[in-house]
Amino acid sequence: MKHSGGSLETAIATARHRNLMVSFGILLLLAASVSLIIANARRAERLGRQQMEFVAGVSHELRTPLSVICSAGENLADGVIGDEAQVMRYGRLVRDEGRRLSRMVEQILELAGIQSGRRYDLREVQLAPLLEEAAKDCHSQLDEHRIQVASHFPPDLPAVRADAAALRQAIQNLLANAIKYSGDGSTVTLSAETVSAERGREVRIAVADQGPGIPAADLPHIFEPFYRGRQALDSQIHGNGLGLSLVKGVMESHGGSVTVESTPGGGSTFLLHLPAPEENAGRNNGGRS
Ligand code: ADP
Repeated sequence: MKHSGGSLETAIATARHRNLMVSFGILLLLAASVSLIIANARRAERLGRQQMEFVAGVSHELRTPLSVICSAGENLADGVIGDEAQVMRYGRLVRDEGRRLSRMVEQILELAGIQSGRRYDLREVQLAPLLEEAAKDCHSQLDEHRIQVASHFPPDLPAVRADAAALRQAIQNLLANAIKYSGDGSTVTLSAETVSAERGREVRIAVADQGPGIPAADLPHIFEPFYRGRQALDSQIHGNGLGLSLVKGVMESHGGSVTVESTPGGGSTFLLHLPAPEENAGRNNGGRS
């Protein structure tokens, strides 16, 4: 009688080999599960830390305007301020700090929405009117700083899929920063073009300023929530460090990104990258150059 697998030694060797392979497979599976558990635990820990940092950052930022409002209110309530001009000054202070506070709350809610995976309502948006409106919205800031905004965009800019309000807000944040950080009397340029990038065609919206530029040490951090550059803090320029993190969140929710090119003393250029439709898709004829 002969075993179909050959001699007894061959059959045993084959069975041993198979068992060995199965054991290795199980070990591999176990190792993969352990690394998955470790990765998940680290992720949960990182998210927990981010949440704590976020809450700490929010509380810290809300404290300053709140204490200004409280002390102005106390002085008024105690009748310490009698003269009408002083009362008006306190009124303006409370109004401005109140506005700052409500804008900050809006930004924080927006950021929290983005971080918890908020989905934007993406529709076809004509870029030229949107860029013009965004430029118009910062007019009140321009007079204060004697700054000019120059717009350049070709008439054949394609329409993009975007949430118009969120995209406009992102452009406004960049324009507001460019105006805020540039020296008085300088020019801020808003431009847009369609270019072929590695990942396909994209629309590139650029906000360039002639300001002080951003030190290399700050560059890796400026898109983090609540991060403020040393120069901004030293020069006591108003802000809460949320503007750029919102721009980044909005762009990523649109399948795009934001990048920056800046050298100290040489100004800064922030670029918004948005996926563009294929060459023959809808075109926008309302732009100007
Ligand atoms: P904020 O302006 O309120 O500080 P942002 O998130 O908008 O917060 O910007 C983060 C930091 O990036 C700023 O504190 C500043 O240091 C730097 N920054 C942003 N835009 C510019 C700019 N156009 N020129 C120089 N520095 C800038």
